[in-house]
Amino acid sequence: MPRYDVVVVGAGPAGLMAAYKAASLGASVLVVEKERSLAVKPCAEGLSKQTLVTAELGESSFFIYNEVRGAYVYPPDESKRVLLVEEGNEGFIVDKKRMLQVMAARAAEKGVDLWMRSLVKDLLWCNGRVSGVVVEVEGSFVKVEAGMVLGCDGVGSTVARKAGFDMEGYEVIPTVQYIVVNCKIEEQDKAHFYLGNEVAPKGYAWIFPKGDGVANVGIGVRGKPAKSYLDKFIKQHPGMFSKAKVVEVKGAPVPIGGMVKELVKPGVAICGDAAGQVIPLTGGGIHSSITAGKIAGELAARAVLEAAPQLMEEYPKLYEDPWGKRIYNSLKALRAIEALSDDELNKLAEIITGEDIVDLARGLNIQRVAMKFIKHPLFAMKLAKKLLS
Ligand SMILES: Cc1cc2nc3c(=O)[nH]c(=O)nc-3n(C[C@H](O)[C@H](O)[C@H](O)COP(=O)(O)OP(=O)(O)OC[C@H]3O[C@@H](n4cnc5c(N)ncnc54)[C@H](O)[C@@H]3O)c2cc1C
Repeated sequence: MPRYDVVVVGAGPAGLMAAYKAASLGASVLVVEKERSLAVKPCAEGLSKQTLVTAELGESSFFIYNEVRGAYVYPPDESKRVLLVEEGNEGFIVDKKRMLQVMAARAAEKGVDLWMRSLVKDLLWCNGRVSGVVVEVEGSFVKVEAGMVLGCDGVGSTVARKAGFDMEGYEVIPTVQYIVVNCKIEEQDKAHFYLGNEVAPKGYAWIFPKGDGVANVGIGVRGKPAKSYLDKFIKQHPGMFSKAKVVEVKGAPVPIGGMVKELVKPGVAICGDAAGQVIPLTGGGIHSSITAGKIAGELAARAVLEAAPQLMEEYPKLYEDPWGKRIYNSLKALRAIEALSDDELNKLAEIITGEDIVDLARGLNIQRVAMKFIKHPLFAMKLAKKLLS
């Protein structure tokens, strides 16, 4: 039976970061990925500059499409848009497949093995502890022994399910995204977010320009069919899309219910989308997943190499501040905002600033924003109270 110090399930941002960090500390590492290629799942491919710093990646033109200096948020009537700018933490629209290829290449340089088209079906157990994985490779089942298994296998994680993690509160929303060419987007250096119960019930639509008239245009909704809302959104914006053509259609769920309570069990931990480590209000999860992979990868290597399994218990503690807190606060903001009617969202656009939205979306300083709403009769109960609870 093959044996590795660390087996990482899933070659997404969390898994490739975890593998690289674990191998950098001298652990033998296997990454198992079910798909034929990296980045099969759709993604709007937007990330902050700080994400690349956390990922220890340079700002390479190999995977950066477009530099983004802020975003516009549009209320339902689109009468007034709010500009979000975060000085010093501008962002990029990237080619995620290429970015993951770079992450895979540097992991390979550290000696990481990568099995593509290999599906983890089950876990191995020894004395109540996870001790490996069962992988389906080209119709055969291969058992792989592991000192530590990291479940970085995204939404619906097999590792989380088989290991019996408590997934209470884990909630996903459906999304659909098109790659659209020949768009006429006025400010290609801004991301664009559209809110409203008619536009995207309990969610939002987004346009992430990639440059040269190409954009990722998508929508996330709750309890409604996402595709018909996206088609309607595109039809209602002929200025941008009358001559545009859709060249790719993909959909995938995003976990927006917040982080699960349990991240570690004997011999196994979960990271990224598998653990709900996504900022609920934005659905952004690349940065938070890479951070989790980084922490868990390092600890897993040390736990195995130093024969100190208790080290894994540090992972939830190290993740909590600031990421766990940010996810929790952003969930509160999501719950408060999704309860607003279109009229209320239009009125909110008149009093909210870009800084307020950045703070809410990132789950930072939400008390400051709440204190601002408390003075406003319409929003005191509906927003401020929920944010302060
Ligand atoms: C439409 C859409 C747009 C998004 N846009 C953005 C954005 O612009 N910015 C942002 O920050 N976030 C965005 N996100 C969220 C972001 O994509 C995720 O949060 C992030 O990719 C999570 O990384 P991960 O490594 O945890 O999981 P994933 O990226 O989902 O990777 C999990 C990997 O595990 C593999 N896998 C699953 N099960 C198994 C198994 N049993 N055996 C082997 N392999 C397995 C999968 O094939 C996959 O490669 C978006 C999500 C969607 C759906």
